[in-house]
Amino acid sequence: MSERKTRNCQVLVVGGGPGGYPAAIRAGQLGLDTVIVDKAGLGGTCLNRGCIPSKAFIHAASKFEEMRHLAGKADMGLSLSAAPQLDMAGLTAWKDGIVNKLTKGVGQLLKAAKVEAVNGWAVFKNAKTCVVTLADGGELEITAEHVILATGSKETELPFMPFGGAVIGSTQALELTELPEKLVVVGGGYIGLELGIAFRKLGSAVTVVEALDRIVPLYDAELTRPVTMWLKKNKVELHLKSKAKGVVEEGGKTFLEFETAGGETQRIEADKILVSVGRRPVTEGWGLENMGVDMDGPFVKIDNQCRTAMRGVYAIGDLTGEPLLAHKATAQGEAVAEIIAGHKRRFDPAAIAAVCFTEPELVGAGLTPDEAKAKGEDVITGKFPLAASGRALTMEGGADGGFVRVTARKSDHVILGIHAVGKHVSELSGEFALALEMGARLEDISGTIHVHPTLTEAFAESALAALGHPIHISA
Ligand SMILES: Cc1cc2nc3c(=O)[nH]c(=O)nc-3n(C[C@H](O)[C@H](O)[C@H](O)COP(=O)(O)OP(=O)(O)OC[C@H]3O[C@@H](n4cnc5c(N)ncnc54)[C@H](O)[C@@H]3O)c2cc1C
Repeated sequence: MSERKTRNCQVLVVGGGPGGYPAAIRAGQLGLDTVIVDKAGLGGTCLNRGCIPSKAFIHAASKFEEMRHLAGKADMGLSLSAAPQLDMAGLTAWKDGIVNKLTKGVGQLLKAAKVEAVNGWAVFKNAKTCVVTLADGGELEITAEHVILATGSKETELPFMPFGGAVIGSTQALELTELPEKLVVVGGGYIGLELGIAFRKLGSAVTVVEALDRIVPLYDAELTRPVTMWLKKNKVELHLKSKAKGVVEEGGKTFLEFETAGGETQRIEADKILVSVGRRPVTEGWGLENMGVDMDGPFVKIDNQCRTAMRGVYAIGDLTGEPLLAHKATAQGEAVAEIIAGHKRRFDPAAIAAVCFTEPELVGAGLTPDEAKAKGEDVITGKFPLAASGRALTMEGGADGGFVRVTARKSDHVILGIHAVGKHVSELSGEFALALEMGARLEDISGTIHVHPTLTEAFAESALAALGHPIHISA
Protein backbone atom coordinates (compact mmCIF):
# COMPACT_ATOMS: atom_id res chain seq x y z
CA MET A 1 0.00 0.00 0.00
CA SER A 2 1.31 3.48 -0.80
CA GLU A 3 2.15 5.85 2.07
CA ARG A 4 -0.44 8.12 3.62
CA LYS A 5 -0.16 11.72 2.38
CA THR A 6 -1.40 14.65 4.40
CA ARG A 7 -3.10 17.92 3.45
CA ASN A 8 -4.18 20.88 5.60
CA CYS A 9 -6.84 23.25 4.34
CA GLN A 10 -9.19 25.94 5.52
CA VAL A 11 -12.40 24.28 4.26
CA LEU A 12 -13.04 20.58 3.76
CA VAL A 13 -16.29 19.60 2.05
CA VAL A 14 -17.32 15.94 2.15
CA GLY A 15 -19.83 15.12 -0.57
CA GLY A 16 -19.88 16.56 -4.08
CA GLY A 17 -23.65 16.78 -4.59
CA PRO A 18 -25.72 19.94 -5.14
CA GLY A 19 -25.02 20.86 -1.51
CA GLY A 20 -21.29 20.17 -1.40
CA TYR A 21 -20.04 21.36 -4.77
CA PRO A 22 -21.66 24.86 -4.66
CA ALA A 23 -20.35 25.20 -1.08
CA ALA A 24 -16.84 24.39 -2.33
CA ILE A 25 -17.10 26.71 -5.36
CA ARG A 26 -18.32 29.60 -3.21
CA ALA A 27 -15.60 28.95 -0.61
CA GLY A 28 -13.01 28.92 -3.40
CA GLN A 29 -14.43 32.14 -4.87
CA LEU A 30 -14.05 33.72 -1.44
CA GLY A 31 -10.35 32.87 -1.42
CA LEU A 32 -10.53 30.02 1.08
CA ASP A 33 -8.18 27.07 0.56
CA THR A 34 -10.80 24.40 -0.10
CA VAL A 35 -10.79 20.63 -0.68
CA ILE A 36 -13.85 18.64 -1.71
CA VAL A 37 -14.02 14.84 -1.38
CA ASP A 38 -16.49 12.62 -3.18
CA LYS A 39 -16.44 8.91 -3.82
CA ALA A 40 -19.23 8.35 -6.31
CA GLY A 41 -18.66 11.25 -8.70
CA LEU A 42 -19.13 15.00 -8.64
CA GLY A 43 -22.75 16.10 -8.86
CA GLY A 44 -23.95 13.61 -6.25
CA THR A 45 -27.39 12.04 -6.42
CA CYS A 46 -28.86 15.02 -8.25
CA LEU A 47 -26.65 14.97 -11.34
CA ASN A 48 -25.77 11.28 -11.49
CA ARG A 49 -28.93 9.39 -10.47
CA GLY A 50 -31.60 11.91 -9.41
CA CYS A 51 -32.97 15.20 -10.68
CA ILE A 52 -31.14 15.42 -14.00
CA PRO A 53 -31.34 11.83 -15.30
CA SER A 54 -34.97 11.55 -14.18
CA LYS A 55 -35.95 14.78 -15.93
CA ALA A 56 -34.11 13.74 -19.09
CA PHE A 57 -35.96 10.42 -18.97
CA ILE A 58 -39.30 12.15 -18.36
CA HIS A 59 -38.70 14.54 -21.27
CA ALA A 60 -37.85 11.71 -23.66
CA ALA A 61 -40.89 9.71 -22.52
CA SER A 62 -43.19 12.70 -23.12
CA LYS A 63 -41.71 13.22 -26.57
CA PHE A 64 -42.25 9.55 -27.40
CA GLU A 65 -45.85 9.69 -26.19
CA GLU A 66 -46.54 12.82 -28.29
CA MET A 67 -45.12 11.11 -31.37
CA ARG A 68 -47.13 7.97 -30.71
CA HIS A 69 -50.24 10.10 -30.40
CA LEU A 70 -49.63 11.54 -33.87
CA ALA A 71 -48.89 8.20 -35.53
CA GLY A 72 -51.49 7.53 -38.17
CA LYS A 73 -53.90 10.25 -37.04
CA ALA A 74 -53.76 14.01 -37.30
CA ASP A 75 -53.87 16.41 -34.38
CA MET A 76 -53.30 20.16 -34.80
CA GLY A 77 -52.91 19.35 -38.47
CA LEU A 78 -49.86 17.25 -37.68
CA SER A 79 -49.43 13.53 -38.11
CA LEU A 80 -46.75 10.89 -38.49
CA SER A 81 -47.00 8.21 -41.10
CA ALA A 82 -45.40 5.56 -38.89
CA ALA A 83 -45.28 4.86 -35.17
CA PRO A 84 -42.09 5.98 -33.37
CA GLN A 85 -39.62 3.31 -32.27
CA LEU A 86 -38.17 3.11 -28.80
CA ASP A 87 -34.53 2.16 -28.28
CA MET A 88 -34.23 2.07 -24.49
CA ALA A 89 -30.47 1.63 -24.62
CA GLY A 90 -30.27 4.69 -26.90
CA LEU A 91 -32.45 6.71 -24.53
CA THR A 92 -30.29 5.73 -21.55
CA ALA A 93 -27.13 6.62 -23.48
CA TRP A 94 -28.58 10.05 -24.39
CA LYS A 95 -29.43 10.65 -20.72
CA ASP A 96 -25.90 9.57 -19.72
CA GLY A 97 -24.50 12.10 -22.19
CA ILE A 98 -26.29 14.92 -20.38
CA VAL A 99 -25.11 13.62 -17.00
CA ASN A 100 -21.49 13.40 -18.21
CA LYS A 101 -21.58 16.91 -19.63
CA LEU A 102 -22.89 18.35 -16.38
CA THR A 103 -20.62 16.40 -14.04
CA LYS A 104 -17.60 17.33 -16.15
CA GLY A 105 -18.77 20.93 -15.92
CA VAL A 106 -18.80 20.71 -12.12
CA GLY A 107 -15.17 19.55 -12.21
CA GLN A 108 -14.23 22.53 -14.38
CA LEU A 109 -16.10 24.98 -12.15
CA LEU A 110 -14.29 23.64 -9.07
CA LYS A 111 -10.97 23.96 -10.86
CA ALA A 112 -11.77 27.54 -11.90
CA ALA A 113 -12.57 28.35 -8.27
CA LYS A 114 -9.19 26.80 -7.27
CA VAL A 115 -10.82 24.02 -5.28
CA GLU A 116 -8.98 20.71 -5.01
CA ALA A 117 -11.28 17.79 -5.83
CA VAL A 118 -10.33 14.44 -4.30
CA ASN A 119 -11.91 11.22 -5.52
CA GLY A 120 -12.30 8.80 -2.62
CA TRP A 121 -14.20 7.88 0.50
CA ALA A 122 -13.62 10.01 3.59
CA VAL A 123 -13.75 8.62 7.13
CA PHE A 124 -13.43 11.06 10.03
CA LYS A 125 -11.03 10.29 12.90
CA ASN A 126 -12.21 13.35 14.76
CA ALA A 127 -14.27 16.45 13.96
CA LYS A 128 -11.59 18.12 11.83
CA THR A 129 -9.54 15.24 10.41
CA CYS A 130 -10.51 12.58 7.91
CA VAL A 131 -8.65 9.86 6.05
CA VAL A 132 -9.62 9.48 2.40
CA THR A 133 -9.17 6.12 0.73
CA LEU A 134 -8.22 7.12 -2.78
CA ALA A 135 -9.21 5.39 -5.99
CA ASP A 136 -5.60 4.10 -6.43
CA GLY A 137 -5.67 2.50 -2.97
CA GLY A 138 -3.53 5.23 -1.39
CA GLU A 139 -4.62 7.35 1.54
CA LEU A 140 -4.83 11.08 2.11
CA GLU A 141 -5.26 12.53 5.59
CA ILE A 142 -6.96 15.92 5.48
CA THR A 143 -7.14 18.30 8.40
CA ALA A 144 -9.33 21.36 8.07
CA GLU A 145 -10.21 24.48 10.03
CA HIS A 146 -13.83 24.19 8.88
CA VAL A 147 -15.70 21.08 7.78
CA ILE A 148 -18.87 21.00 5.69
CA LEU A 149 -20.71 17.68 5.79
CA ALA A 150 -22.77 17.07 2.66
CA THR A 151 -23.01 13.29 2.47
CA GLY A 152 -26.56 13.30 1.13
CA SER A 153 -29.09 10.50 1.20
CA LYS A 154 -29.75 7.07 -0.25
CA GLU A 155 -32.79 5.05 -1.24
CA THR A 156 -34.73 3.27 1.46
CA GLU A 157 -35.09 -0.46 0.87
CA LEU A 158 -37.95 -2.55 2.18
CA PRO A 159 -36.33 -5.20 4.43
CA PHE A 160 -38.66 -7.91 3.14
CA MET A 161 -37.92 -7.16 -0.53
CA PRO A 162 -34.39 -5.73 -0.87
CA PHE A 163 -33.05 -4.48 -4.21
CA GLY A 164 -31.94 -7.28 -6.52
CA GLY A 165 -33.45 -9.29 -9.36
CA ALA A 166 -36.78 -7.78 -10.35
CA VAL A 167 -36.78 -5.40 -7.37
CA ILE A 168 -35.13 -2.11 -8.28
CA GLY A 169 -34.75 1.38 -6.91
CA SER A 170 -34.83 4.67 -8.81
CA THR A 171 -31.10 4.40 -9.60
CA GLN A 172 -31.53 1.12 -11.48
CA ALA A 173 -34.81 2.30 -13.03
CA LEU A 174 -32.85 5.10 -14.71
CA GLU A 175 -30.29 2.66 -16.08
CA LEU A 176 -32.57 0.10 -17.74
CA THR A 177 -31.69 -0.76 -21.29
CA GLU A 178 -34.91 -2.71 -21.85
CA LEU A 179 -38.40 -1.43 -21.25
CA PRO A 180 -40.22 -3.50 -18.63
CA GLU A 181 -43.51 -4.67 -20.08
CA LYS A 182 -45.11 -4.74 -16.63
CA LEU A 183 -43.88 -2.32 -14.02
CA VAL A 184 -45.16 -2.19 -10.45
CA VAL A 185 -44.26 0.90 -8.45
CA VAL A 186 -44.32 0.57 -4.68
CA GLY A 187 -44.82 4.08 -3.29
CA GLY A 188 -46.89 6.87 -4.76
CA GLY A 189 -44.59 9.70 -3.71
CA TYR A 190 -43.04 12.08 -6.20
CA ILE A 191 -40.13 9.90 -7.36
CA GLY A 192 -42.27 6.79 -7.86
CA LEU A 193 -44.96 8.71 -9.71
CA GLU A 194 -42.58 10.72 -11.89
CA LEU A 195 -40.87 7.53 -13.03
CA GLY A 196 -44.05 5.44 -13.19
CA ILE A 197 -45.71 8.01 -15.44
CA ALA A 198 -42.64 8.17 -17.69
CA PHE A 199 -42.58 4.37 -18.05
CA ARG A 200 -46.29 4.43 -18.86
CA LYS A 201 -45.64 6.99 -21.60
CA LEU A 202 -42.97 4.70 -23.03
CA GLY A 203 -45.45 1.84 -23.13
CA SER A 204 -45.06 -0.16 -19.89
CA ALA A 205 -48.22 -1.36 -18.14
CA VAL A 206 -47.87 0.40 -14.78
CA THR A 207 -49.45 -0.33 -11.38
CA VAL A 208 -48.87 1.85 -8.33
CA VAL A 209 -49.27 0.43 -4.81
CA GLU A 210 -49.42 3.12 -2.13
CA ALA A 211 -49.95 2.62 1.61
CA LEU A 212 -51.64 5.99 2.19
CA ASP A 213 -55.10 7.00 0.98
CA ARG A 214 -53.72 9.28 -1.76
CA ILE A 215 -50.76 9.95 -4.00
CA VAL A 216 -48.08 12.62 -3.37
CA PRO A 217 -49.45 13.45 0.08
CA LEU A 218 -47.45 16.69 0.33
CA TYR A 219 -50.03 18.24 -1.98
CA ASP A 220 -53.74 18.48 -1.13
CA ALA A 221 -56.43 16.48 -2.89
CA GLU A 222 -57.56 19.43 -5.04
CA LEU A 223 -54.04 19.69 -6.47
CA THR A 224 -53.48 16.01 -7.06
CA ARG A 225 -56.88 15.45 -8.72
CA PRO A 226 -55.59 16.23 -12.26
CA VAL A 227 -52.71 13.77 -11.74
CA THR A 228 -55.13 11.08 -10.56
CA MET A 229 -57.28 11.83 -13.62
CA TRP A 230 -54.25 11.36 -15.90
CA LEU A 231 -53.41 8.04 -14.25
CA LYS A 232 -56.98 6.84 -14.74
CA LYS A 233 -57.20 8.03 -18.33
CA ASN A 234 -53.91 6.34 -19.14
CA LYS A 235 -54.82 3.07 -17.45
CA VAL A 236 -52.29 3.26 -14.64
CA GLU A 237 -53.73 0.97 -11.97
CA LEU A 238 -53.71 2.67 -8.58
CA HIS A 239 -54.05 0.71 -5.34
CA LEU A 240 -54.36 3.10 -2.40
CA LYS A 241 -54.32 2.09 1.27
CA SER A 242 -52.48 -1.01 0.07
CA LYS A 243 -49.29 -2.44 1.53
CA ALA A 244 -46.58 -4.34 -0.32
CA LYS A 245 -45.93 -7.64 1.45
CA GLY A 246 -43.23 -9.27 -0.64
CA VAL A 247 -42.15 -10.81 -3.91
CA VAL A 248 -43.36 -14.20 -5.05
CA GLU A 249 -41.75 -16.22 -7.84
CA GLU A 250 -44.04 -18.77 -9.41
CA GLY A 251 -44.06 -20.57 -12.73
CA GLY A 252 -41.12 -18.52 -13.99
CA LYS A 253 -43.01 -15.29 -13.27
CA THR A 254 -42.53 -12.62 -10.63
CA PHE A 255 -45.41 -11.16 -8.60
CA LEU A 256 -45.72 -8.42 -6.03
CA GLU A 257 -47.91 -9.57 -3.20
CA PHE A 258 -49.81 -6.80 -1.42
CA GLU A 259 -52.58 -6.30 1.06
CA THR A 260 -55.51 -4.22 -0.19
CA ALA A 261 -57.46 -1.59 1.71
CA GLY A 262 -59.99 -4.30 2.58
CA GLY A 263 -57.32 -6.58 4.08
CA GLU A 264 -57.33 -8.98 1.15
CA THR A 265 -54.01 -10.36 -0.21
CA GLN A 266 -53.56 -9.83 -3.96
CA ARG A 267 -50.79 -10.40 -6.50
CA ILE A 268 -49.71 -8.43 -9.54
CA GLU A 269 -47.33 -9.82 -12.12
CA ALA A 270 -44.27 -7.65 -12.73
CA ASP A 271 -41.15 -7.62 -14.87
CA LYS A 272 -39.74 -4.98 -12.58
CA ILE A 273 -40.85 -3.74 -9.16
CA LEU A 274 -39.69 -0.22 -8.50
CA VAL A 275 -39.51 0.40 -4.76
CA SER A 276 -39.74 4.10 -4.09
CA VAL A 277 -40.60 4.50 -0.43
CA GLY A 278 -38.38 7.41 0.51
CA ARG A 279 -34.77 8.29 1.15
CA ARG A 280 -32.65 8.33 4.29
CA PRO A 281 -29.55 10.32 5.18
CA VAL A 282 -26.10 8.81 4.67
CA THR A 283 -24.87 8.79 8.27
CA GLU A 284 -22.96 5.52 8.41
CA GLY A 285 -19.53 4.37 7.29
CA TRP A 286 -17.74 7.71 7.48
CA GLY A 287 -17.05 8.29 11.18
CA LEU A 288 -19.97 10.57 12.04
CA GLU A 289 -19.86 9.01 15.50
CA ASN A 290 -16.36 10.50 15.99
CA MET A 291 -17.45 14.06 15.31
CA GLY A 292 -19.42 15.06 18.39
CA VAL A 293 -22.43 16.39 16.48
CA ASP A 294 -26.01 16.12 17.74
CA MET A 295 -28.73 14.32 15.82
CA ASP A 296 -32.31 15.28 15.07
CA GLY A 297 -33.93 11.90 14.51
CA PRO A 298 -32.02 10.28 11.62
CA PHE A 299 -30.60 13.63 10.47
CA VAL A 300 -27.68 15.77 11.63
CA LYS A 301 -28.99 18.62 13.76
CA ILE A 302 -28.14 22.14 12.59
CA ASP A 303 -29.08 25.70 13.50
CA ASN A 304 -30.11 28.47 11.11
CA GLN A 305 -26.49 28.89 10.03
CA CYS A 306 -26.15 25.15 9.32
CA ARG A 307 -23.81 24.82 12.31
CA THR A 308 -23.75 21.45 14.07
CA ALA A 309 -23.15 21.04 17.80
CA MET A 310 -19.38 20.81 17.06
CA ARG A 311 -17.63 24.14 16.55
CA GLY A 312 -16.41 24.59 12.99
CA VAL A 313 -18.46 21.67 11.63
CA TYR A 314 -21.40 22.48 9.37
CA ALA A 315 -23.92 20.18 7.69
CA ILE A 316 -26.06 20.81 4.63
CA GLY A 317 -28.42 19.12 2.19
CA ASP A 318 -30.28 15.84 2.59
CA LEU A 319 -28.12 14.95 5.59
CA THR A 320 -29.91 17.68 7.56
CA GLY A 321 -33.54 16.78 6.92
CA GLU A 322 -36.62 17.75 4.99
CA PRO A 323 -37.17 18.90 2.39
CA LEU A 324 -34.74 16.57 0.60
CA LEU A 325 -34.31 18.81 -2.43
CA ALA A 326 -31.33 19.84 -4.49
CA HIS A 327 -32.03 23.58 -4.46
CA LYS A 328 -32.28 23.57 -0.65
CA ALA A 329 -28.89 21.84 -0.46
CA THR A 330 -27.37 24.41 -2.85
CA ALA A 331 -28.77 27.38 -0.95
CA GLN A 332 -27.39 26.00 2.31
CA GLY A 333 -24.01 25.32 0.70
CA GLU A 334 -23.63 28.87 -0.58
CA ALA A 335 -24.74 30.32 2.76
CA VAL A 336 -22.29 28.19 4.76
CA ALA A 337 -19.31 29.14 2.58
CA GLU A 338 -20.13 32.81 3.15
CA ILE A 339 -20.62 32.27 6.90
CA ILE A 340 -17.18 30.62 7.09
CA ALA A 341 -15.73 33.59 5.20
CA GLY A 342 -17.16 35.89 7.87
CA HIS A 343 -20.26 37.16 6.06
CA LYS A 344 -23.42 37.82 8.02
CA ARG A 345 -25.70 35.10 6.64
CA ARG A 346 -28.46 32.83 7.83
CA PHE A 347 -30.32 30.01 6.16
CA ASP A 348 -33.85 31.08 6.91
CA PRO A 349 -35.92 30.94 3.71
CA ALA A 350 -39.52 32.13 3.67
CA ALA A 351 -40.31 29.11 1.51
CA ILE A 352 -38.63 26.33 -0.41
CA ALA A 353 -40.70 25.62 -3.47
CA ALA A 354 -41.10 22.01 -4.58
CA VAL A 355 -42.03 20.57 -7.94
CA CYS A 356 -43.34 17.16 -8.98
CA PHE A 357 -42.62 16.44 -12.61
CA THR A 358 -45.70 14.29 -12.91
CA GLU A 359 -48.35 14.55 -15.62
CA PRO A 360 -49.49 17.22 -15.17
CA GLU A 361 -46.82 18.92 -13.08
CA LEU A 362 -47.34 20.06 -9.48
CA VAL A 363 -45.76 23.06 -7.77
CA GLY A 364 -46.02 24.07 -4.15
CA ALA A 365 -44.55 27.04 -2.33
CA GLY A 366 -45.59 27.98 1.18
CA LEU A 367 -48.79 26.98 2.93
CA THR A 368 -51.87 25.32 1.48
CA PRO A 369 -55.19 26.81 2.66
CA ASP A 370 -55.62 23.95 5.17
CA GLU A 371 -52.08 24.34 6.52
CA ALA A 372 -52.59 28.10 6.88
CA LYS A 373 -55.88 27.56 8.73
CA ALA A 374 -54.22 24.99 11.00
CA LYS A 375 -51.74 27.76 11.94
CA GLY A 376 -54.66 29.97 12.97
CA GLU A 377 -54.66 32.16 9.85
CA ASP A 378 -57.89 33.58 8.45
CA VAL A 379 -57.31 33.21 4.71
CA ILE A 380 -58.71 34.06 1.32
CA THR A 381 -57.87 32.07 -1.78
CA GLY A 382 -57.97 32.75 -5.51
CA LYS A 383 -57.89 30.11 -8.20
CA PHE A 384 -57.37 30.56 -11.92
CA PRO A 385 -58.02 27.60 -14.23
CA LEU A 386 -55.47 27.03 -16.98
CA ALA A 387 -58.43 26.30 -19.29
CA ALA A 388 -58.80 30.12 -19.32
CA SER A 389 -55.12 30.79 -20.08
CA GLY A 390 -54.38 31.58 -23.71
CA ARG A 391 -50.80 30.37 -23.30
CA ALA A 392 -51.87 27.08 -21.72
CA LEU A 393 -54.22 26.45 -24.66
CA THR A 394 -51.46 27.11 -27.19
CA MET A 395 -49.34 24.49 -25.41
CA GLU A 396 -52.15 21.91 -25.08
CA GLY A 397 -52.26 22.59 -21.35
CA GLY A 398 -55.83 23.73 -20.94
CA ALA A 399 -57.73 20.48 -20.75
CA ASP A 400 -56.17 18.55 -17.90
CA GLY A 401 -57.83 20.34 -14.99
CA GLY A 402 -54.78 22.51 -14.19
CA PHE A 403 -54.93 25.74 -12.17
CA VAL A 404 -52.94 28.23 -10.12
CA ARG A 405 -54.12 28.83 -6.57
CA VAL A 406 -52.99 31.56 -4.23
CA THR A 407 -53.61 31.64 -0.49
CA ALA A 408 -53.36 34.96 1.36
CA ARG A 409 -54.02 36.34 4.81
CA LYS A 410 -57.46 37.96 4.79
CA SER A 411 -56.53 40.95 6.94
CA ASP A 412 -53.51 42.29 4.99
CA HIS A 413 -53.46 40.20 1.78
CA VAL A 414 -49.91 38.95 2.44
CA ILE A 415 -49.45 35.80 0.37
CA LEU A 416 -48.91 32.67 2.45
CA GLY A 417 -48.82 30.01 -0.23
CA ILE A 418 -49.00 29.45 -3.97
CA HIS A 419 -49.74 26.13 -5.63
CA ALA A 420 -50.29 25.04 -9.18
CA VAL A 421 -51.00 21.95 -11.19
CA GLY A 422 -50.77 21.79 -14.97
CA LYS A 423 -48.54 21.30 -17.95
CA HIS A 424 -45.27 23.29 -17.70
CA VAL A 425 -46.20 24.89 -14.35
CA SER A 426 -42.81 23.88 -12.90
CA GLU A 427 -41.47 26.99 -14.62
CA LEU A 428 -43.67 29.14 -12.33
CA SER A 429 -41.91 27.89 -9.19
CA GLY A 430 -39.30 30.66 -9.26
CA GLU A 431 -41.89 33.42 -9.34
CA PHE A 432 -43.85 31.73 -6.54
CA ALA A 433 -40.75 31.47 -4.33
CA LEU A 434 -39.78 35.07 -5.11
CA ALA A 435 -43.25 36.33 -4.16
CA LEU A 436 -43.07 34.60 -0.79
CA GLU A 437 -39.46 35.61 -0.15
CA MET A 438 -40.30 39.28 -0.87
CA GLY A 439 -43.38 39.13 1.38
CA ALA A 440 -45.63 40.04 -1.54
CA ARG A 441 -49.29 40.94 -1.11
CA LEU A 442 -51.98 40.03 -3.61
CA GLU A 443 -51.86 43.60 -4.94
CA ASP A 444 -48.11 43.30 -5.66
CA ILE A 445 -48.74 40.31 -7.89
CA SER A 446 -51.86 41.60 -9.62
CA GLY A 447 -50.16 45.00 -10.07
CA THR A 448 -47.07 43.48 -11.72
CA ILE A 449 -47.43 43.46 -15.50
CA HIS A 450 -47.07 39.83 -16.55
CA VAL A 451 -46.02 39.06 -20.09
CA HIS A 452 -48.71 37.92 -22.51
CA PRO A 453 -49.04 35.16 -23.49
CA THR A 454 -47.30 33.28 -20.67
CA LEU A 455 -48.46 31.00 -17.89
CA THR A 456 -47.31 33.63 -15.40
CA GLU A 457 -50.47 35.58 -16.22
CA ALA A 458 -52.37 32.81 -14.45
CA PHE A 459 -50.57 33.74 -11.22
CA ALA A 460 -51.60 37.39 -11.56
CA GLU A 461 -55.15 36.28 -12.37
CA SER A 462 -55.27 34.04 -9.29
CA ALA A 463 -54.29 37.07 -7.19
CA LEU A 464 -57.07 39.07 -8.88
CA ALA A 465 -59.47 36.20 -8.20
CA ALA A 466 -58.53 36.30 -4.50
CA LEU A 467 -59.23 40.06 -4.56
CA GLY A 468 -62.61 39.31 -6.11
CA HIS A 469 -62.14 40.83 -9.56
CA PRO A 470 -60.44 38.52 -12.05
CA ILE A 471 -60.53 39.61 -15.69
CA HIS A 472 -60.45 36.36 -17.62
CA ILE A 473 -62.95 34.35 -15.57
CA SER A 474 -66.23 35.46 -14.04
CA ALA A 475 -65.87 36.69 -10.47
C1 LIG B 1 -34.83 9.91 -8.86
C2 LIG B 1 -34.63 11.19 -8.11
C3 LIG B 1 -35.15 12.37 -8.61
C4 LIG B 1 -34.96 13.56 -7.93
N1 LIG B 1 -35.49 14.69 -8.46
C5 LIG B 1 -35.32 15.86 -7.82
C6 LIG B 1 -35.82 17.06 -8.38
O1 LIG B 1 -36.43 17.07 -9.46
N2 LIG B 1 -35.59 18.22 -7.72
C7 LIG B 1 -34.93 18.24 -6.52
O2 LIG B 1 -34.75 19.32 -5.96
N3 LIG B 1 -34.45 17.12 -5.96
C8 LIG B 1 -34.63 15.93 -6.58
N4 LIG B 1 -34.10 14.79 -6.04
C9 LIG B 1 -33.41 14.88 -4.72
C10 LIG B 1 -31.99 15.42 -4.89
O3 LIG B 1 -31.26 14.59 -5.75
C11 LIG B 1 -31.32 15.51 -3.52
O4 LIG B 1 -32.12 16.29 -2.67
C12 LIG B 1 -29.94 16.14 -3.62
O5 LIG B 1 -29.10 15.43 -4.50
C13 LIG B 1 -29.29 16.23 -2.24
O6 LIG B 1 -28.05 16.83 -2.39
P1 LIG B 1 -26.87 16.60 -1.32
O7 LIG B 1 -25.74 17.45 -1.77
O8 LIG B 1 -27.40 16.79 0.05
O9 LIG B 1 -26.49 15.05 -1.42
P2 LIG B 1 -26.23 14.06 -2.63
O10 LIG B 1 -26.66 14.63 -3.92
O11 LIG B 1 -26.81 12.76 -2.21
O12 LIG B 1 -24.64 13.96 -2.68
C14 LIG B 1 -23.92 13.40 -1.64
C15 LIG B 1 -22.58 12.93 -2.20
O13 LIG B 1 -21.71 12.64 -1.10
C16 LIG B 1 -20.93 11.51 -1.41
N5 LIG B 1 -20.45 10.95 -0.13
C17 LIG B 1 -21.19 10.61 0.95
N6 LIG B 1 -20.40 10.23 1.95
C18 LIG B 1 -19.12 10.33 1.50
C19 LIG B 1 -17.86 10.06 2.10
N7 LIG B 1 -17.74 9.63 3.35
N8 LIG B 1 -16.78 10.26 1.35
C20 LIG B 1 -16.86 10.69 0.07
N9 LIG B 1 -18.03 10.96 -0.53
C21 LIG B 1 -19.15 10.78 0.18
C22 LIG B 1 -21.90 10.62 -2.16
O14 LIG B 1 -21.20 9.68 -2.93
C23 LIG B 1 -22.65 11.65 -3.01
O15 LIG B 1 -22.02 11.83 -4.25
C24 LIG B 1 -34.24 13.58 -6.70
C25 LIG B 1 -33.69 12.39 -6.20
C26 LIG B 1 -33.88 11.21 -6.88
C27 LIG B 1 -33.29 9.96 -6.33
